[in-house]
Amino acid sequence: MTLPELQNACATMGLPIFRAGQIFDWLHNKHAVSFSEMTNLGKNLRADLDREFEIRNVEILEKYVSKLDGTVKYLYRLNDGETIESVLMKYKYGYSVCVSSQVGCNMKCRFCASTIDGCVRDLTASEILSQVYAAERDTGERISHIVLMGMGEPLVNYDNVMRFLDLITDEKGDNISARHISISTCGIVPRIYDLLETRPQFTLSVSLHAPNDEIRSKIMPVNYRWSVEELLQACKDYTETTSRRISFEYAMMSGVNDSDECAEELADRLKGMLCHVNLIPANEVRENDYVRSSDERLRSFSKMLERRGITTTVRRTLGPDIDASCGQLRRNHEKENA
Ligand code: SAH
Repeated sequence: MTLPELQNACATMGLPIFRAGQIFDWLHNKHAVSFSEMTNLGKNLRADLDREFEIRNVEILEKYVSKLDGTVKYLYRLNDGETIESVLMKYKYGYSVCVSSQVGCNMKCRFCASTIDGCVRDLTASEILSQVYAAERDTGERISHIVLMGMGEPLVNYDNVMRFLDLITDEKGDNISARHISISTCGIVPRIYDLLETRPQFTLSVSLHAPNDEIRSKIMPVNYRWSVEELLQACKDYTETTSRRISFEYAMMSGVNDSDECAEELADRLKGMLCHVNLIPANEVRENDYVRSSDERLRSFSKMLERRGITTTVRRTLGPDIDASCGQLRRNHEKENA
């Protein structure tokens, strides 16, 4: 609930309005996971709240800490027994957490482990929030950045994700700056327009992964619904309306999308757009045959883009010793328990 919703709920229960502020503070600043922790509320009130409401939070089921860079990977259990993954990463500028928006995913990108068994269900706003709060509770660190790049397609679970964004950026709560939050999408075009109209302050990442329809449709079925041209038009409109730079994600897969011709075509299509390209060495997943491009290929692809005026970065790999990319941990867990 947002603070006004909580105030209404308190009013309905015949409680004074300041109680809503206290409860909001317990949930979003002290990250309470039960009403019994809320010690400035009377015992009877806590019992009433417990009867009327539910705090949906995640519970740490498994935790892996990288010995190489301190990256922490969590497998969380939800109230109904489903599992999701989150990753906490340490950067020079602070801590960033990568959160999931769905249990599984329906987008069927061929190279991705999260989507193999489809989407089980959407996460609620509380379950997305709770991934951040659980990591803050567990490590005692304050998180300054969030990326919606875990399991799921955030723009398919649009309403819950928007509610999550409104709550995590609330000044009275965790108060994380919208500019420090990246929403990553495989390209749900109408939702990109919704986002630019209602919440232009967030950072948009678009999983492009190919310069044309022929290659993109092969690896990302969503491209049959919205073509590269439609997607890039939406991106252009987004940058022109918001004056915010879009980040294009491009996972480099050997022999699939990493040729010199691909680099040239990509540069041509992105020319003049307020954007940058983030090249990602593809993570190899047991269940498919995609092989990551060599470091040399990555370097020369990146150089070709730069030479054509496209700002390009190569994403650093974090937590390589703990399978830190999403989807794999949940699959292992499901198999063990099958
Ligand atoms: N559904 C959203 C966000 C989740 S995936 C989206 O598609 O953007 C986060 C990023 O990881 C996406 O760019 C996705 O394409 C990428 N990804 C998925 N599997 C990958 C793999 N095996 N190697 C590299 N990147 C991968």
